[in-house]
Amino acid sequence: MGLKVAKFGGSSVADGIQLEKMRKIIMHDPDRRYVVVSAPGKRFDGDNKITDLLFLCLTQMENNIPCDQIFQVICDRFTAVKLNLDLDIDLTEDFDEIRERMRNGAPKDYVVSRGEYLSAKIAACYLGYDFVDTEGLIIFDKRGRVKLDETDARLSEELAKHERAVLPGFYGTNEETGEVRTFSRGGSDITGALVARAVKADVYENWTDVSGFLMADPRIVKGAKPIGNISYMELRELSYMGASVLHEDAIYPVRLAGIPINIRNTNHPEDQGTVITAEHDPEDKRVITGIAGNRDFTVIAIYKNTLNKEIGFVRRLLSIIEDHRINFEHIPTGIDTVSIIISNKEIEGKLDDVLEDINLQLKPDNIDVYTDISLIATVGCGMSFRPGVSAMLFSALAKNDINIRMIDQGSSEMNIIIGVANKDFESAIRTIYEAFNE
Ligand code: ASP
Repeated sequence: MGLKVAKFGGSSVADGIQLEKMRKIIMHDPDRRYVVVSAPGKRFDGDNKITDLLFLCLTQMENNIPCDQIFQVICDRFTAVKLNLDLDIDLTEDFDEIRERMRNGAPKDYVVSRGEYLSAKIAACYLGYDFVDTEGLIIFDKRGRVKLDETDARLSEELAKHERAVLPGFYGTNEETGEVRTFSRGGSDITGALVARAVKADVYENWTDVSGFLMADPRIVKGAKPIGNISYMELRELSYMGASVLHEDAIYPVRLAGIPINIRNTNHPEDQGTVITAEHDPEDKRVITGIAGNRDFTVIAIYKNTLNKEIGFVRRLLSIIEDHRINFEHIPTGIDTVSIIISNKEIEGKLDDVLEDINLQLKPDNIDVYTDISLIATVGCGMSFRPGVSAMLFSALAKNDINIRMIDQGSSEMNIIIGVANKDFESAIRTIYEAFNE
């Protein structure tokens, strides 16, 4: 028998109908022994996520406004699920305890974690699995980082006592204060990964509302093909550029243990989704895996004659950027030029001061600034050592009259990043997609 950890995101546990789908999925495969759940998410457009409502309670509490009404909305949603599914569970004591602690100014992380706590209790009852709280099992240090080894040891010791269990996502315990501590938003993905590692799962299934990753954003490329498998490294590049399905910190624990992640769709369990593995499959002949991008970057292009001979030029440029506490994305260099690419949000309100410092300290011959740049990453392990890939990409763009303002190829050769004007963003993505999918 194999062992699978299945994590269900907010939309997959949003109401009784979704929980029924979850139950069918679990019952379909006896290997799905450990289940991690998010708090109920939106049931329809304009609906509220339970976690957002809990954050709202918190804001009310901070402003000394009673939050009983909002908390009642939360309780009613859980009660509706219990009634719809005819569950033999009484949550009154839990509701009362949470309400009481909130009235007495409960800590922030405790409040916002209660969505997952109640969600896991309901799911455990419905599945007939044990409820195992992650408090005291997932351990954070005082700086908010998970203590991986200790967490691994505690989770595996506890779960060895349970043949089948449901665990709440999103939180654990701060070892210093002993209080509940949450991950950042979307953090139930990380809980799932930690559980998968602790029980040495064969696969970590992440059930959500999409059938895995697509080769490009379907809002831009209609009918973009699904990605059947992708390596962690490729995924990292694509997520960095905005393709987001999974919390980025969820990759590390399972990567460490060599456990594949399978992104699946609760609403279409027949779809096989995307499998994320440690290594790229050498048998796989496809050239590119996916295309992702983001709008609104600023390029500061600096020209200085014989810049390449001036020792320390780039270091001094980077110190200026650092002094202004700016995080940059790329820094392509040429013989007499160096460009630095920064997201517009990052440089907002600082551009004039940065330019003044560059002029004063580096004495360049010229500086050009472009504030309307989009970055597009074409990613694929299949590009390495394959001649002609960039030629294909650039000639397709040229044929469609798209001017490339910057090129940066990662040293891994599995990523070509180009900069284009914001107005060309979507057509550039479509052009690249078509060039490699004909
Ligand atoms: N419920 C939390 C959130 O909305 C965590 C999660 O769903 O992963 O961010």
